[in-house]
Amino acid sequence: ASGIDVGKIRADFPILQRVLRSGAPLVYLDSAATTQKPLQVLDAERDFYLKHNAAVHRGAHQLAEEATGAYEDARAAVAAFIGSRQEEVVFTKNATEGINLVAYALGNGGWVKAGDRIVVTEMEHHANLVPWQELARRTGATLEWFPLTDEGRLDLSVIDDLITENTAVVALTHQSNVLGTVNPVEVIARRAHAMGARVLVDAAQSVPHRPVDVADLGVDFLVFSGHKMLAPGGIGVLWGRYELLADLPPFLTGGSMIEIVTMEQSTYLPPPQRFEAGVPMTAQAVGLGAAVRYLGELGMDRVKRHEDQLTELALGLLSGIPGVGIIGPSGTDDRGSTVAFSVDGIHPHDVGQVLDDQGVAVRVGHHCARPLMRRYGVPATTRASFYVYNTVEEVEALARGVRAAQKFFA
Ligand code: PMP
Repeated sequence: ASGIDVGKIRADFPILQRVLRSGAPLVYLDSAATTQKPLQVLDAERDFYLKHNAAVHRGAHQLAEEATGAYEDARAAVAAFIGSRQEEVVFTKNATEGINLVAYALGNGGWVKAGDRIVVTEMEHHANLVPWQELARRTGATLEWFPLTDEGRLDLSVIDDLITENTAVVALTHQSNVLGTVNPVEVIARRAHAMGARVLVDAAQSVPHRPVDVADLGVDFLVFSGHKMLAPGGIGVLWGRYELLADLPPFLTGGSMIEIVTMEQSTYLPPPQRFEAGVPMTAQAVGLGAAVRYLGELGMDRVKRHEDQLTELALGLLSGIPGVGIIGPSGTDDRGSTVAFSVDGIHPHDVGQVLDDQGVAVRVGHHCARPLMRRYGVPATTRASFYVYNTVEEVEALARGVRAAQKFFA
């Protein structure tokens, strides 16, 4: 057993009691896109607005002080959750903004120059591909990538040719949002650092689902989104090693991030403030603080174990259905809880439609990873993804729904 009491957890998520248009109860299997929010998170946000709302880091009044305290408490909670120092946690809008921030600052700060190499992987979400394409275009650097094996893993045989002395940045996902693959980030970071490159990890799909300690990973930057880990939308995190953040120029500029401003020029505060221009999303940060406390109380080891059980069941049930093909690793070793699959002869949108009629909410499409779809020769897939509140019965409902789709379109 995982040690997770799903029944007790589900009571914290009223939305999971919904009955849909079709009359079917909601089976929410789309947490890789965004997760549902527990009462503890909603209450924390509401409590902030009801009692403490003010602009942080400004004003001498009591509410401003309380709001600042709440915001900085959230930063401390996030730092504890990923094993970092508080001043290494920068609040952003989401993972996408964190990656854009780093790509922009590395270029503007002269860390990536013409002739340098930027290395990504063929399994990246567009959020961790397009900003690097743009950085390469702006600087004259070249973009290269790790290819994928048929099983859905990085082909590491090319690592020494790919990451060389002219490699400035390696940016890769920790856990694929399609294949579920968990990448050997430590191994790649070691090679990158030996070659003098900086390493950014897209942890949008890993931090919500498994214990992640930034010191263990041995990387330079790591980003994730609150909305994928029980927190509100509009808040994300960029973690960076302090010495590096302290050397990087700002991304967005304006209020709250300056030291001295004259009409001609300005100097900037140290991190994290340097990277948090303007009045921040305070209530959302408070919500994220509540979310990491909630996950911390469950224990990320237990969260992972629970998801592993559901994933193993899903892989077993789906691969037992003739005509269903899973793209991604077939076992739960180094694999997270997103399961993407094709059903022979049925378009993923039709699979999604039949599942929706049965209350089963999944994602269909290219999952913001078009090169990955091309690699496996599919235009789109159906993707189910699991979280702390999902049950064995819900995974069984997924498999039943896929069989129903086959029957419907036979
Ligand atoms: N990277 C990965 C692996 C993702 O799954 C996602 C969201 N689907 C993102 C980045 C982008 O996250 P956001 O849209 O919250 O910025």
